Amino acid sequence: MRQLSQIPPIEKLLNLPEIASYHTILSRTIVAQIVKSQVSIYRDEIVQTHQVVELNTLIERILAKLAYQNQIRIQPIINATGIVVHTNLGRSPLPQAIWQEVGDIVCNYSNLELNLLNGKRGNRMGMLSQVLQAYFGGEANIIVNNNAAALHLILKTFAQGKEVIVSRGEQIQIGGGFRIPDILADSGAILRDVGTTNITTLDDYLNAINDNTAIVLIVHQSNYYIEGFSQQVDIKQLAASLPEHVMLVVDQGSGNHLSAIPSELPINSYLKIEPDLICFSGDKILGGPQSGIILGRKDKIEKLAKHPMMRVLRPGKETYALLEKILIHRLNRDGKADNRVESLINQPISWHQSRAKQLVDIAPGKLILRPTKFMVGGGSTPRAQFDTWAVALNSRLSATTLIERLREHTPPIIGVVQNDQVLLYPVTLSDDELLIVKDCLMTLTAKTDF
Ligand SMILES: *Cc1c(COP(=O)(O)O)cnc(C)c1O
Repeated sequence: MRQLSQIPPIEKLLNLPEIASYHTILSRTIVAQIVKSQVSIYRDEIVQTHQVVELNTLIERILAKLAYQNQIRIQPIINATGIVVHTNLGRSPLPQAIWQEVGDIVCNYSNLELNLLNGKRGNRMGMLSQVLQAYFGGEANIIVNNNAAALHLILKTFAQGKEVIVSRGEQIQIGGGFRIPDILADSGAILRDVGTTNITTLDDYLNAINDNTAIVLIVHQSNYYIEGFSQQVDIKQLAASLPEHVMLVVDQGSGNHLSAIPSELPINSYLKIEPDLICFSGDKILGGPQSGIILGRKDKIEKLAKHPMMRVLRPGKETYALLEKILIHRLNRDGKADNRVESLINQPISWHQSRAKQLVDIAPGKLILRPTKFMVGGGSTPRAQFDTWAVALNSRLSATTLIERLREHTPPIIGVVQNDQVLLYPVTLSDDELLIVKDCLMTLTAKTDF
């Protein structure tokens, strides 16, 4: 077994320059684990087959495992999908200026749960409550880890063992497995579905109410819409018709506020109807950290705050600090935390076109200007689409190969495939990212196989 004695010591492999370059990004410990396990597989192969296996093969296998590890590491990527709030891509990027301000709070001790006025235990919501109220309205508020948690807490607190009425047109699934009927069942509430997929009337709701009804739940249709013969209830009329013992709760989802998206009813319009509670995500259109924001009547919010589950669902200090800071800057309109969705929608079409043209000019013919639509995404309806210009890659290579090459770029560039063609949307790129994509396209289109 002369082969065996020729395997270099682990330490030596670890310090080979191409392997050592992974130490800082993956940790020396994990690189060592990979090296050891590959050496052990290599050793077994030699023992079992008595075959000569090239040492280079071992090193290549180690490098392949390290490259794999590097891909699953969380890292910045470039979103060229034209979907502004993309759940797979971390939803809303936080404003850099806010992150720095919050760094001072989270990297030091803070008064998270200390009342500085009297030295006693304080409330995590602190000033955030007033800020949320100044920004959105509503009598009172509270935050939890995400909107799914918000809805779960509301149902558990007010509808355990009781009936919750939901229209058949609103029993949606969102992304990875969030299903309204499942959340309802898990919270201990009983689903009472009413109406049909396309039509639910006021009477459908009212006729379903009995003594055991706790909530009428309105769910924003989120990721789909019904076209054609369809009718949803007038929520204002519904709110006015509900008996005293039935709460009106709205899962608004996207957090669309004011008129960020003209085709959707925004939070402030819902609040005018005075639902008992309304909940939505903090990291969709609002552009804040992952959180579920609940607004509504004071007595109801107090009940949520006192529920034992609140201890399970409460966010960390980063979330409170980020939300408070972002909303303060929004209230001041000082440009430090502008609403990304709103700014993009308000850009003139010439802005969109000139960005796309900057890319196309690198290699006209190989890159083609394409008028298309960008989407808000993240739980706003698919109707929230706006004009933009994208760049189509006109190549001999298959769309699958191209999209893969873009993904292998550092940083990875994520495009979309439409009709077997790769499209890159400059609308979702920052100015710096536009330059990176430009460089990447320059190299890619200059290759002989493009
Ligand atoms: C996105 C969404 C949710 C889930 O929100 P998370 O913050 O991702 O937990 C729930 N309901 C609706 C209507 C949504 O759009």
